Amino acid sequence: MIECDFKSPQLIKAISDIEAVNMTNIGVFIAFTIVGLWSASLVLLLLLDTSKFQIPLIVSAILWQTFLYTGLFITAHDAIHGVVFAKNPKINNWIGRIAVIIDALFSYKNSVKKHWLNHQQPGTEADPDFDNNQYQNVFAWYFRFMKSYLDLRQLFGLALIFNILNIAFKIPEINLNLFWIIPSILSSIQLFHFGTFIPHKRMEGVYTNLLRIYIVRKAFHYLLCGRL
Ligand SMILES: [Zn+2]
Repeated sequence: MIECDFKSPQLIKAISDIEAVNMTNIGVFIAFTIVGLWSASLVLLLLLDTSKFQIPLIVSAILWQTFLYTGLFITAHDAIHGVVFAKNPKINNWIGRIAVIIDALFSYKNSVKKHWLNHQQPGTEADPDFDNNQYQNVFAWYFRFMKSYLDLRQLFGLALIFNILNIAFKIPEINLNLFWIIPSILSSIQLFHFGTFIPHKRMEGVYTNLLRIYIVRKAFHYLLCGRL
């Protein structure tokens, strides 16, 4: 019996088109799930009467919201790489824009610019995530890193939203701090530590040449983001 493995070019194209559509749909589905979960969860937590819940449950809720904040960053990151909705870059970029705005009123345009510099020139002076400070103190580096991504317009906007929610919508300050502010800070620390500090830090005597720094940095990025 002769086995025939032949697939016509049309059939191969049809299969790859179906796969591409499925991948595209998966990207959009995941992005909407993360944005939807983040929003719904935040609304519920802001309305929660914290006095009725035990501390472990409150801590779990903070960690859950931190996880979703990290998901927002990953969604924005995927949009920057054009893979959330590859067949329509406009919609893809709008999803990325929404993710960075609800994250902490970040500018998508700036995020795209900085992220590509980070990819194109990792571990160099041109890399916005790299800190060439002699001692590479993790705390000093984190504050410099955040300062480079946050500006006065964002801080003013976030303070305004905080006060509107607190005064006009009567959301208690404790809820805003526990479920909105703290998870956002914890997520930024997590992303900074694993996405910036570890892959970029200088390891004396081990990673002393640029090629090794580049390879380690790429490997960490692959592990965290699923792509180089
Ligand atoms: Zn990337």
